Amino acid sequence: MTARKLTGKELAAAIRAQTAAEVAAGPQPRLAVVVATGDEASLWYVRSIAKAAEGVGIAADVVDLGPEARPEQIRETLARLSADAGVHGVMLQTPLPEGAVAQELAGAIDPRKDVDGANPLSLGRLAAGLPAFVPATAAAVMALLDHYGVELAGRRAVVVGRSTVVGKPLAHLLLDRNATVTVCHSRTRDLASVTATGEVLVAAVGRAGLIGTGHVAPGAVVIDVGTNPTDDGGLTGDVDFDAVAERASALTPVPGGVGPVTTALLLRHTARAANLP
Ligand code: NAP
Repeated sequence: MTARKLTGKELAAAIRAQTAAEVAAGPQPRLAVVVATGDEASLWYVRSIAKAAEGVGIAADVVDLGPEARPEQIRETLARLSADAGVHGVMLQTPLPEGAVAQELAGAIDPRKDVDGANPLSLGRLAAGLPAFVPATAAAVMALLDHYGVELAGRRAVVVGRSTVVGKPLAHLLLDRNATVTVCHSRTRDLASVTATGEVLVAAVGRAGLIGTGHVAPGAVVIDVGTNPTDDGGLTGDVDFDAVAERASALTPVPGGVGPVTTALLLRHTARAANLP
């Protein structure tokens, strides 16, 4: 391997330590995570958030409505938690039951408690250059790039994926930092020819091994957001790690790259929400 491995564990630990210090200095923040799924990977992720929250002194409630929950029930729960002065952060976990649209329901989360930037108002404010909570995954990509001193101003950044939780907010964050941003998606023609223009390349698709050496410019910095389950119960990214490591200058691993930083930032956002004037 020739690429530098951009691990997220140390950065995540530093963010958690700083968050724990902020939490210790004020009243205890409370995070509520609303879940309406039987998806094991999703439930595991929610439990891991709750455990990490407790580790920094944040109380975490998992509000499990079950996989049969109706959209109206989810909306009412989000509105009730938003109105509860004892709750500082509210998050809606996906996937949701058939017929429930996350972007619509997340409108019921008070933007001041929207610690994962899911309310369309938060995304709109981000697009308008106004202060807002940013989706933790998109924020984690930026935090990793900054942590490793990756220059963005004036550089070509290519994002693969245009979801409202990762690709779109990330494109705005990169633009705000004066990168020249291209966003790719499933209808992009000749994906490799576009991604190979990126000095910074971010893959946020959800397809194991989609990004191979032919997609990467020599010396590019590659951030892999993808988390795809493997047959042995593990996780793998969207990037063919071993092959791309011979071509890129730097590359995040999966697991151990973006994931831990995402969770740590969710906690930081919750602590900040608790301290909003
Ligand atoms: P999503 O909502 O399914 O969006 C996937 C995006 O990829 C879509 O924009 C889709 O294009 C695009 N796409 C699909 N196939 C493609 C192809 N062959 N070529 C180019 N683009 C393609 O997924 P998401 O929620 O953004 O998540 C993306 C990945 O990140 C998943 O693996 C997810 O598990 C992972 N993730 C990780 C973290 C973390 O903390 N590490 C957090 C969140 C998500 P269209 O828009 O045209 O359909």
